[in-house]
Amino acid sequence: MDRILSRFWRRLRTDFPFATLSLMGLFGILGVSPFIIYRALEGNYLIAIADTLMVLATVSAIVYAWVTHDTAKAGIFLLCIFTLVALLVAITIGLDAVFWIYPLILANFFLAEPRVALVATLALLMTLTGYSLLEPGLLFENPRQLASFLVTSLMAGALTYIFASRSRTQREQLETLAIQDPLTGARNRRAMNQDLQLASARQKRQKQPQALMVMDLDHFKQINDRFGHPAGDQVLVDFVSLVKRCTRSSDMLYRFGGEEFLLLLPDTDQQGLQQAAQNLQRRVRQQLVGPGGTVTVSIGGALLRTDEHWNSWLQRADKCLYQAKGSGRDCIILDCEPTGTDSVAAAPHA
Ligand code: GH3
Ligand code: MG
Ligand code: MG
Repeated sequence: MDRILSRFWRRLRTDFPFATLSLMGLFGILGVSPFIIYRALEGNYLIAIADTLMVLATVSAIVYAWVTHDTAKAGIFLLCIFTLVALLVAITIGLDAVFWIYPLILANFFLAEPRVALVATLALLMTLTGYSLLEPGLLFENPRQLASFLVTSLMAGALTYIFASRSRTQREQLETLAIQDPLTGARNRRAMNQDLQLASARQKRQKQPQALMVMDLDHFKQINDRFGHPAGDQVLVDFVSLVKRCTRSSDMLYRFGGEEFLLLLPDTDQQGLQQAAQNLQRRVRQQLVGPGGTVTVSIGGALLRTDEHWNSWLQRADKCLYQAKGSGRDCIILDCEPTGTDSVAAAPHA
């Protein structure tokens, strides 16, 4: 039990969408639970049952998000449940329950993406308005009350929509900044570590071959020394754009160090790795032109072995790169051995 609780706390601290969903769920449970008893004592069993179902649905949604990591689906499910219960309660109880619509509007924007929350909010307001017009006097005492409710709830919805959209955009920008190299736009080392771990997990789960290449530009220091740092920077930017142009969209490029890059190739076997490396080497030699002429790249590559730690996979590829440099540069060395021998398959100048 202690272990489950400590894992739950850790997840709350590290997984923002899950923490938001749990917080909204907790508010829902705390806000609604006392009313289950109150409505039951009052004899309003329909609402007591609806409230009970809402609490159970909330707990299920949190457990579902915890197990599957799919907070988006769980959030939309909760939004639907909360909205339906609020509608039912407002129609059954009348004006007293209408005040619940305001916190519900806010909660919707925490539970789902802004557009979905806006659609749910508008659907709820239209249903309540339709009901009030068809059954005058049941929900609102007069048309003025209905108009006030509509204007204030629409304002609450619109302002929350603007706020939620802005914070969503800012969060996405921050997430991008946190994983991107500012000079070249390639993914950075932080993203690389995470993605290598994921690739290793993917291989175990789906038996999908995973390959990686470590690439280092040859004699790059000379470009800096002869033409200055900005010229070197431009070569790095051009290299990244060239690699992105000649690889698949599922391949991920990372800046590993100064002029050293890593390419992760999911679902790629030995033949695919060889072809990709040779293609890259040729394209760089033909198309990467610095101020002093064409630039070449040395490449080390490795296929992930069964049950291998991603760190050892990376080390093997790096060792191949070292050997490629030793073999005269503009060279490819790949380690595609399925077991832990140290043999290296060399693919010299294509
Ligand atoms: P080798 O063929 O053995 O790889 O030689 P090299 O000159 O490419 O390699 P070395 O590691 O000696 O030099 C790498 C240089 O890259 C040194 C460093 O100043 C430069 N560098 C590192 N980061 C940047 C950067 O962001 N911009 C620029 N312009 N240069 C950088
Ligand atoms: Mg270099
Ligand atoms: Mg280097």
